Amino acid sequence: SPYPIRLSGPVIKGFGRGSKELGIPTANIPADDLSEEHPELTTGVYYGVVALDPRAQSHEDSRNDGENSAETTILPAVLSIGYNPFYKNTVRSVEIHIMPQLTEPSPTAVAQPKFHRMPDFYGTKLNLLILGYIRPEYDYVSLDALIEDIRVDCEVARQSLLRDAYQRYIVDDDQGSNQ
Ligand code: ADP
Ligand code: MG
Repeated sequence: SPYPIRLSGPVIKGFGRGSKELGIPTANIPADDLSEEHPELTTGVYYGVVALDPRAQSHEDSRNDGENSAETTILPAVLSIGYNPFYKNTVRSVEIHIMPQLTEPSPTAVAQPKFHRMPDFYGTKLNLLILGYIRPEYDYVSLDALIEDIRVDCEVARQSLLRDAYQRYIVDDDQGSNQ
């Protein structure tokens, strides 16, 4: 298995469609060197984990904004690498939708069909570990069909990450900092 595959880069502006048209924010990172550095990454949908700078997190649990609160959070993610056939992009992009911690109930499950949303974090360095492949990219007859498939992708990612590979990529900072 080629996994984990590590990608990283600053969060850049994408096509401005994720949130506006789909209601699914996707953090974009540069894809320019992808074909050279990772020829094994064929276009498609993958799952993995993202290490996010704490400043990119919502402030709900950050009572201490001091220097030693720099605790990186690892969050599950589903991502697409490719041309988004529905939109017929001509350049390849890496689009990462970050999900809530797996300990929380799935927000994309039928009862609560909302996609995870955080405060914007453009410019932040994003570290991504790709842990597995879900499916190739498809074209869709409608926006709804596309959104429905992404919903399924999120559930597949959640199940895969719960099943394996996920726990050992989580640095347990809580246990490490029993000062
Ligand atoms: P763009 O086309 O510029 O990528 P999007 O509509 O796809 O815009 O929104 C992506 C931006 O939204 C990210 O760069 C990030 O700053 C923010 N964001 C908020 N919540 C999430 C999330 N759960 N996953 C990914 N990005 C998110
Ligand atoms: Mg995007």
